[in-house]
Amino acid sequence: MHHYVKSSSELLRKRGYRLTPQRSMILNVIHEADAHLSIEQISERVQQQNPAVSLSTIYRTLELLKELGLVRENRLPGEPPRYERAPGKAHHHLICRGCHVIIHLDENLLGNLHEDLQQQYGFHGLTLDLVASGYCQACWQKRQSFPSAGESTAGMKSTSTPDES
Ligand SMILES: [Zn+2]
Ligand SMILES: [Zn+2]
Repeated sequence: MHHYVKSSSELLRKRGYRLTPQRSMILNVIHEADAHLSIEQISERVQQQNPAVSLSTIYRTLELLKELGLVRENRLPGEPPRYERAPGKAHHHLICRGCHVIIHLDENLLGNLHEDLQQQYGFHGLTLDLVASGYCQACWQKRQSFPSAGESTAGMKSTSTPDES
């Protein structure tokens, strides 16, 4: 049993819940993926192991795991909610509007934002969910070559192409 699943089951028990096979399976799926899964991806993987687990069970289980702080639900603009395991500190997301890749931002880039907010506004126990969206290098280059796709990129000339890749 993964450490994550084991410590999760301890927390469940402490709060008066049992680690049912369904809960264990869903925790495993989220742990093993180590990614941002949509509910469809989760149910696909769970039902591969046990087709009898219904979508509503998965929804209910995710709600519980979310409430207990074991699973994190990310709502990114224009995207269905995605789930990932909660532990870990860096939870700021950089998302590509083209290919929808999701990357965790390096927390250090934010400097002392946490402390600064606390001092300036007197807010405590802050949680910070930063979402930055744009185009990844590959998608951006594609857009430069086919400016007709999407918004117009007036004034952009591609006479010289600095090779950054
Ligand atoms: Zn994430
Ligand atoms: Zn992209």
